[in-house]
Amino acid sequence: MFNIILFGPPGSGKGTQSEKLISKYGLKHLSTGDLLRSEIAGQTPLGMAVKSLMAEGKLVPDEIVIEMINSALDNNTHVNGFLFDGFPRTTAQAEALDKLLSQKGTQIALVLALQVSQEELIKRLLNRGRTSDRVDDVSEDVIAARIAEYEKKTSAVAEHYKKYGKVEYVQGEGSIDDIFSLLCKGIDEKNVA
Ligand code: AMP
Repeated sequence: MFNIILFGPPGSGKGTQSEKLISKYGLKHLSTGDLLRSEIAGQTPLGMAVKSLMAEGKLVPDEIVIEMINSALDNNTHVNGFLFDGFPRTTAQAEALDKLLSQKGTQIALVLALQVSQEELIKRLLNRGRTSDRVDDVSEDVIAARIAEYEKKTSAVAEHYKKYGKVEYVQGEGSIDDIFSLLCKGIDEKNVA
């Protein structure tokens, strides 16, 4: 089993690249953003509890996403590995993930960190706001709040995994296929696939 974290700020291309990576490497995609959006769409109590936080671009509480990941790990026991997208987003989430994986006799093999300039992130997110139904991509204020949350709380996650030599930085600007090749190179060089 091998497990990857696709890491990077909002708009860095994690969703797009995740789709390509899971199909090439046969991984199970776990996106906490997608899981939370489906709770909102289903109007579940959890969805209703997180709806306004997400619309404001704020992180939802650690306990909620950790529990969602815990259930997803339990419900997917026969997979080659997981690709975590948008999780972990805080050091507490990273520590909880490490613990959950180690209880299952596995661990994070690699953190692929996409690097994209702030200017490009804002451009991409506003563009996605025009073409998708994501409410958190429409306003420049909400986009700025999400990037601020990333800088304040999420960038520390890379530091956490750097301690274990697991982080590979990848240029996240360029064509989708070029970025995908760089990500694959990072995986293949680690020899985890
Ligand atoms: P994403 O689709 O990954 O951009 O996430 C969209 C929104 O969902 C974020 O702005 C947060 O409000 C929430 N969210 C997704 N994943 C997490 C997480 N791991 N921790 C806290 N909040 C999250």
